[in-house]
Amino acid sequence: MNFAEPAHNTMLSRTMSRRSALLAMLALLGGCAAPQTPATVSIALPTAAATLSPPTATPPPLHFSGDLAFVHAAAQMQWIPRHTGTEGWRACGDYILEQLAAQGWQIEEQPFEYQGFACRNLLGKRGDGPLLIIGAHYDSRRRADRDPDPANHDLPVPAANDGASGVAVLLDLARVLKPEILGRTIWLVAFDAEDNGGGGIEGWDWIQGSTYMAENLPRMPQGMLLADMIGDADQQIYYEANSHAEMLRGVWQVAADLSYPSFIPEYRYTMIDDHLPFARQGIPAADLIDFDYPYWHTVADTLDKISPASLEAVGRTIEEWLARGAPGMPPTTAGFAPRTLIDYRRATFAARRSASLRH
Ligand SMILES: [Zn+2]
Repeated sequence: MNFAEPAHNTMLSRTMSRRSALLAMLALLGGCAAPQTPATVSIALPTAAATLSPPTATPPPLHFSGDLAFVHAAAQMQWIPRHTGTEGWRACGDYILEQLAAQGWQIEEQPFEYQGFACRNLLGKRGDGPLLIIGAHYDSRRRADRDPDPANHDLPVPAANDGASGVAVLLDLARVLKPEILGRTIWLVAFDAEDNGGGGIEGWDWIQGSTYMAENLPRMPQGMLLADMIGDADQQIYYEANSHAEMLRGVWQVAADLSYPSFIPEYRYTMIDDHLPFARQGIPAADLIDFDYPYWHTVADTLDKISPASLEAVGRTIEEWLARGAPGMPPTTAGFAPRTLIDYRRATFAARRSASLRH
């Protein structure tokens, strides 16, 4: 192997060996891996990254696996529909709780009522120290009302990407994260009632599970990181404008160091998503979302549109970001004032319009 490096960079052999293993895995995945396969086997890390690396004398032998995450996505797809109140939603929620428990997380349900529906957020808790919430929504959209064929508008969204992908990342993170070693408390949270605003279910608004949790927190989290619609095989993840800017920079730098070019450090969309209620409480929160997805809220949001490689890019990045001490996330939320958020409704609907025009 050729380790040729630009003169101004340093090589970390530990990262190199990790990367080699990952490349071998990506090679096994064949064509699916194309968008994330780096152009070169060499890994060039900026000098500064060396000082950010954790003092891991005994790095965990297992890392986040896109293949294993994909299995969790496929498992959720056996239940269609999965919008709040359906049998599939109930069964999928039970599956999530079982998987979290099986990986040694203390599971909890947070029930709440919304518009006459009995809803539940699902939590896996573990560790001691400052609290970080990592979330994804597990409910799906009842109506595929963005489908190009109006005849499909009353069919449910299968939600491979817009639902299953984020949870799939959570569930393999449950396998690899060791909050005890990281010295922090982590809650892995599957949010309910995210995706039926705007006529999904009559009278519903978006992001109700995260709103309930953020307004009923028993303790102040240090930060909140969200993964939503991150499985697209054709992955491009841009900065999201309601997110905490320093957290975005910290996460994207890790992705760059891991050679994931699908993380693009430029602003593109402003989203109503499950990070928003936390940001409104003054909690540093960031949304990892790939909104350039032509199958958004259509019946074509199916498993063949997402890839293990895309799930792995996000899962590995989150795993490594935590291992480096969550660069960009403020050390404490004490004294944090609620942030001035962008006029998200107008901005988001404009973004969604432009998205639909492009596709
Ligand atoms: Zn959605």
